[in-house]
Amino acid sequence: MTSSSNRPSVVPQQDLESFQDHLNKSTRILALLGAGLSASSGLPTFRGAGGLWRTHDATQLATPGAFSADPGLVWQFYSYRRHMALKAKPNPAHYALAELAKKKETFLTLSQNVDGLSPRANHPEESLKLLHGSLFDVKCSDFFCNYLEKNNYTDPIVPALAIPTSEEDPTTTSALASRELDIADENVPIPELSYKHLPKCPKCKRGLLRPGVVWFGEMLPEKVLDDIEEWIQKENKIDLIMVIGTSAKVYPAAGFVDRARAKGARVAIINMDKNDVPASGLDKRDWFFQGDAARILPEILSNVIGELKETPDAAADADNAVTEASS
Ligand SMILES: [Zn+2]
Repeated sequence: MTSSSNRPSVVPQQDLESFQDHLNKSTRILALLGAGLSASSGLPTFRGAGGLWRTHDATQLATPGAFSADPGLVWQFYSYRRHMALKAKPNPAHYALAELAKKKETFLTLSQNVDGLSPRANHPEESLKLLHGSLFDVKCSDFFCNYLEKNNYTDPIVPALAIPTSEEDPTTTSALASRELDIADENVPIPELSYKHLPKCPKCKRGLLRPGVVWFGEMLPEKVLDDIEEWIQKENKIDLIMVIGTSAKVYPAAGFVDRARAKGARVAIINMDKNDVPASGLDKRDWFFQGDAARILPEILSNVIGELKETPDAAADADNAVTEASS
């Protein structure tokens, strides 16, 4: 890593100064995170047009109905996403936000991402609200069972969900990663899996485990929404909301921006696409930082968080443990 003093600024100087001046004075700060934040960690998001996984529209696999119809296929999709997310690493934007949370006690981050990258950047748990759950939470799919396990980084979660490797692979453990087949490609065959192959609930011993993400047609987690509500209502003023890698055009995301603004918050947008403005539009006092959040956030937050240091990845230990156990 090169020293930041040699690095050219990625934002206009005047905006940087006015933002940092406001950040300094701010105590009540919100951040709203979306898929754009993880894009520079190289993660496919399967959202929007062309979000195909094999022959399936990814949104069609993310429903309770799809899971009851074919839990094996839905688990193959989510096991793949867990695997890809574990191969990715938190980027400097994740670390910068985690650091800000340690410096400013009343900073709350609302994330729409399920990829586990903020938790792995050691973002303090109490100041991170996962609106859509996490790929690394697993819970029982039985309606009457409340089993939930957080931060399960086991990959694959059961042997039947291992990513297949190419046949000419000489099975030397060191070269395995590069010979994995891309099961997002419909031409790569995957086995048909049924109840007996899939992870079961250790509590009721009967229900299938399922990914702890919010599927289409499901409610956002009540406890998470309650915590956010409590934070918003606690005081009459909010100083700042940062909207990062998300268009915040749809509710409830858009609603958080409106509510923060109604309490006086100035809005800072960090996005690659200059058309990605919140539903309520932009106001003169707002900032729009166009570009890669992984470059912009460490810079605009630097007056509070200082220089980012290399930080260990919270999943690295778990990942190593699994690799060692299976080799
Ligand atoms: Zn159960």
